[in-house]
Amino acid sequence: MVYLDYAATTPVDPRAAEQMIHFLGPEGVFGNSASRTHRYGWEAAEAVERSRQYVADLLTCDTDEIVWTSGATESDNLAIKGVAYAHADRGRHIVTSAIEHKAVLDTCRFLESQGFEVSYLRPDAGGVIIPQQVEAAMRPNTILVSLMHVNNETGAIADLDSIARIAHEHGAVFHTDAAQSASRLPLDMRRNRAHLVSLSGHKMYGPKGIGALFVRRDPRLRLQPQIHGGGHEWGIRSGTLPTHQIVGMGEAARLLSMERDTENARVADLSRKLLDRLMAIDDTIINGDRERCVPGIVNVSFDAVDSEALVLMLNEAAVSTGSACTSASVEPSHVLIAMGLGEDRAHSALRLSLGRFTTEEDIDRSVDEITGAVRELRDLTR
Ligand SMILES: *Cc1c(COP(=O)(O)O)cnc(C)c1O
Repeated sequence: MVYLDYAATTPVDPRAAEQMIHFLGPEGVFGNSASRTHRYGWEAAEAVERSRQYVADLLTCDTDEIVWTSGATESDNLAIKGVAYAHADRGRHIVTSAIEHKAVLDTCRFLESQGFEVSYLRPDAGGVIIPQQVEAAMRPNTILVSLMHVNNETGAIADLDSIARIAHEHGAVFHTDAAQSASRLPLDMRRNRAHLVSLSGHKMYGPKGIGALFVRRDPRLRLQPQIHGGGHEWGIRSGTLPTHQIVGMGEAARLLSMERDTENARVADLSRKLLDRLMAIDDTIINGDRERCVPGIVNVSFDAVDSEALVLMLNEAAVSTGSACTSASVEPSHVLIAMGLGEDRAHSALRLSLGRFTTEEDIDRSVDEITGAVRELRDLTR
């Protein structure tokens, strides 16, 4: 098998997995990091804080600005509902986009049912939200702008610095879902002025079920907790901290700080090769604008080929269609539809995403298989 679905999840880096084991068994550091009365607790707390430092280093921020969560879904929920409920006295309008992850879209839909008003910006044909659109959508009662950094289906990159500036000028909080960018782009929270940033462990070579929310402290941001309990994480997010998960994400962040740029140069070379080979297949169209995308996420449509049928024919290449299966039917990607690509093109879209363990041979083998399958399907229907 060839894994080309790094945007869906990454494997845990073996170096991070190795660390995690030491925080589980009776001989390991299994204590509750909130236990203040013995060494079991102190050692767990130390490991949690060391990991927090590694994630803070990745974002160039302070450790007290990192709140552990269960993943980017929870981080998005905490950021968006947390701001909405804490700032509702100032206004009830939220600006987001139609290409966000469901964790943002569904949270905003829920808030609409609670009396908030949401503007969903549409991207240009390249899948990018333009800062000018954000400016135009701002109202006096806008309390929150939530726009993702890198889109998980097309790899499109948003101009975070400009968007953050606009939000600040209008006195609104700016949240960005950076689940896809943490492993691919520099994120310097001393330069960028976002108030809230969502991260996911399993999109950056850490484990599933762990994430973080960057919460800017200067000025201190008001956030309504969504989970109440023991008052962990400065009362923002209660619940016993999962030491092994945190250590895994921390180590993953430490490795990225050291290796991200060289890794991504290699991934960019492989992506170019992948795209060249895919474009050699007749009637292949790129979805998105490669100039404004991260290299590791490639989205193409093969004209007149249903991608659901295509992936069923693949035995080796593990890729994604971007479509969502509901109980009754296959819904085309809401991202590609929002880009105005049309149902046919969305139904023939294939997302291939590369990462740390992708090899040149992986590219060759998967494209060979995809090329054959496209030809076969076209022969059947033409
Ligand atoms: C994967 C992903 C999420 C969800 O992250 P989980 O940690 O699985 O909850 C949210 N946003 C984006 C952009 C993602 O790619």
